[in-house]
Amino acid sequence: MAESESDISNLFKPIYLKEVDRLKVESQPNPLDDNPYFNTHKQAFYFSETDVVLRQIDNDLSPSPRFAYRRAGPRKLISFDPPNVRAAILTCGGLCPGLNTVIRELVVGLSNLYGVPHIFGITAGYRGFYSADPLPLAPNLVRNWHSVGGTLLQTSRGGFDLLKIVDAIQYRAFNQVYIIGGDGTMRGAVKIFDEIRRRKLNVAVVGIPKTVDNDVGIIDRSFGFQTAVEMAQQAINAAHVEAESAVNGIGLVKLMGRSTGHIALHATLSSRDVDCCLIPELDFYLEGEGGLFQFLNQRLKENGHAVVVVAEGAGQDLIPRTDSQKQGRDESGNMVFLDVGVWLKSELTKWWAREHPGELFTVKYIDPTYMIRAVHANATDNLYCTLLAHSAIHGVMAGYTGFVTGPINGNYAYIPLEDVAHASNPVHTTDHKWSWVRSVTNQPDFVRRFVFSLWMGFEDVWFGALLIAVKLRHGTI
Ligand code: ATP
Ligand code: MG
Repeated sequence: MAESESDISNLFKPIYLKEVDRLKVESQPNPLDDNPYFNTHKQAFYFSETDVVLRQIDNDLSPSPRFAYRRAGPRKLISFDPPNVRAAILTCGGLCPGLNTVIRELVVGLSNLYGVPHIFGITAGYRGFYSADPLPLAPNLVRNWHSVGGTLLQTSRGGFDLLKIVDAIQYRAFNQVYIIGGDGTMRGAVKIFDEIRRRKLNVAVVGIPKTVDNDVGIIDRSFGFQTAVEMAQQAINAAHVEAESAVNGIGLVKLMGRSTGHIALHATLSSRDVDCCLIPELDFYLEGEGGLFQFLNQRLKENGHAVVVVAEGAGQDLIPRTDSQKQGRDESGNMVFLDVGVWLKSELTKWWAREHPGELFTVKYIDPTYMIRAVHANATDNLYCTLLAHSAIHGVMAGYTGFVTGPINGNYAYIPLEDVAHASNPVHTTDHKWSWVRSVTNQPDFVRRFVFSLWMGFEDVWFGALLIAVKLRHGTI
């Protein structure tokens, strides 16, 4: 083999199909055959069981296994008789641009593609199954929902009572359940799916992952993310204008991202006005050599202003907490985060007064979180939501259950619910995208002190151990 050639024989290692459960019911021809909109050339387009989506397509020479997933899309045979379908749709967790579009497309798709007559909305999240009457939905009702932010079905946290929920599914005779929500919602969906299987019910359960933070693994990205990045830029622009217009002005923007900094990263890369981007995946520190204050001091000297973007989950272990704050949990059991933006603003102000007494200084803090979450989806996300909803419908009608639908390498696939419920999608601070952030911002790498502390010797190992203990306590590792 010539030296310039690479051995790619490893590329041909085995591929494992991640199978999705299927209801064991009799199948019948797909009514799309007779649908004039779908079947324009007298031949509807169907995917077969050999159509799969490959997850790893790069020159993956690592020994890790490779996975394929069933391709999303209509099947020639379906497992439900459309007039007998009773579909339930619910939204759970926080708001995200595109929720209403997914609901709209589920309703319109079920109705127009398959002729399903009985579609219901479960109001206010999981608790709506057992605490309220379902809301009948029809294409006429949801026609304009894609142009409205939030969720017109309402949402909530907590209220997950498995037995009551599955009892309600049985009592209402729902046989298709569409669950739109974040990681917590998906973990709940797995339990519902397991209980439905245990009771041997012919009910299909599908999850549509909603996370504006883009923290779900396996799929390419989550809906609402692009809208969020676009809106985040407006906040960064405003912070930049404020900072530039002040003497020693700092614009500080807090963006969503509890465990991942994708929004902060993408908004930073596309904005070019950001001097420092702080994300949960990267520890930072304020004081001393290579710290944030030293860096900002330098930027203020050079430019007269600076813009800092911080993701909400960044620096949580640096913020002092009272005992009750340490225990703080929301209704769903998630740790309550302290406002890193408010804390950072206060620390910056104290630092400047200490180091530069009498000199002008301004920190303008912008938290656009609720403004971003509440907008309706942009054009790209609206289209994406439509494809997600239709993929979900085709899969459920074909009898697949316990799955999530989403794009993998650009192709829509059916992925086991459990895999998605536990897959995370962190920002990799060792890859090229983060290097690009470093080169755009020139920000410090915030690792020198750690290396220095190891070099300093034994005492600092105790400091390291203490840091790990604090992080464990806060649940950040
Ligand atoms: P967000 O993106 O806003 O965090 P989420 O779906 O993660 O969305 P949560 O409030 O964490 O939002 O959870 C939503 C719903 O899922 C709640 O009703 C909660 O009770 C339920 N839930 C969360 N975790 C679990 C779990 N491990 N098992 C069962 N239900 C859960
Ligand atoms: Mg969550």
